[in-house]
Amino acid sequence: MTELNPHATIALHPASCTSCMLCVRECPDWCITVDAHSEPDEDAPQYSNARRQSMKNVLDEFTIDFGKCMWCGICIDVCPFDALFWSSTQMPAATSREELIFDVNQLAASLPDARRNDGSPAPQIDEPPSGRRKK
Ligand code: SF4
Ligand code: SF4
Repeated sequence: MTELNPHATIALHPASCTSCMLCVRECPDWCITVDAHSEPDEDAPQYSNARRQSMKNVLDEFTIDFGKCMWCGICIDVCPFDALFWSSTQMPAATSREELIFDVNQLAASLPDARRNDGSPAPQIDEPPSGRRKK
């Protein structure tokens, strides 16, 4: 029986991503892109003396170019919001360069086999942000 590679690919939990761009800046190969927009945060505390509405980032797209990725894991290590994980999901064989660029849905599809570095399971697509910050 073939053993699963726990670092076969990278999974993203989109709801946990705050579009902070830390992984984009720290990736040594520039293989991550993040697109996001701001919108009013209805869940934020409403203060009577607030001068402006609280805003939050909303993720529009997140891609990893596995044609450039060197599986260093820096993006996973630096994400402060528990949104990126190693996954043992095998990547399908690519027939073109473009197929190596995974979008947010493809990255989320690897969540069922994803684990945190401490071995605990990653949050799944229908779960809210874990709110967990790395120590
Ligand atoms: S594993 Fe390394 S090279 Fe690949 S996307 Fe993450 S930081 Fe970039
Ligand atoms: S570091 Fe984490 S929260 Fe920040 S943009 Fe990357 S995946 Fe999203």
